[in-house]
Amino acid sequence: MGSQIDIDRVVRQHLEMEQFFAGFAPKGKAQTHETLEREDDMAVSEKADALEKIAEEARQCRLCELGSLRTNAVPGEGNPDARIMFVGEAPGADEDAQGRPFVGRAGQLLDKIINACGLKRSDVFIGNILKCRPPDNRDPRAEEIICCLPYLQRQIEIIKPEIIVALGAHAARTLLNTTKPIGQLRGQFHEYYAGLGSPPIKLMATYHTAYLLRNYSPENRRRVWEDMKKVLAELGLPVPA
Ligand code: URA
Repeated sequence: MGSQIDIDRVVRQHLEMEQFFAGFAPKGKAQTHETLEREDDMAVSEKADALEKIAEEARQCRLCELGSLRTNAVPGEGNPDARIMFVGEAPGADEDAQGRPFVGRAGQLLDKIINACGLKRSDVFIGNILKCRPPDNRDPRAEEIICCLPYLQRQIEIIKPEIIVALGAHAARTLLNTTKPIGQLRGQFHEYYAGLGSPPIKLMATYHTAYLLRNYSPENRRRVWEDMKKVLAELGLPVPA
């Protein structure tokens, strides 16, 4: 518990510093009117190319020690023009083996949720806070988040989803720069700031599917389902009864 608070504080301070110096711009990217206009006009094929470039950078990355421990980096995958982007915590063993996000048991449950929403996996984009698996699936460390987050920030900037669904406490707290518990964050829309001049992106926090598998109560399933129904309604998509 003590170390969790410390990690949150270190990450929060880092993000605040980044935001102060960059005006909410992702690291290494000066936001000018010119870049904003160009990005707004990006064709899907250009988005796909830009995402592949980031994926290749993540596959080569050695910024933290996880780079030397991984079998495969897991940059994320999906529709470059997705309206919904799911963000998890970090790859597990199955994801590390395949280089693809959410392909283990938690991923199968995520697939079911996506399908229950009347969508296909290929309609959405699925990413993680960390691109490499922490040993024994331990929690992400502050320095790992700090090294890895710019990849996700850049992916969000390119995709420009209408809604981000943050799966679990690590994703929600990191993207919202808060220490609040997931129980308080879930079920309502928050705002994620992608860059100076970019409109905020709506973010829905909900329980991680791995948590849901461990706590598979009707109440928890209903909560996640209610959260997803809010997402569908916000997007003007049919909301299943
Ligand atoms: N859990 C995550 O947070 N991400 C994955 O990709 C798989 C499981």
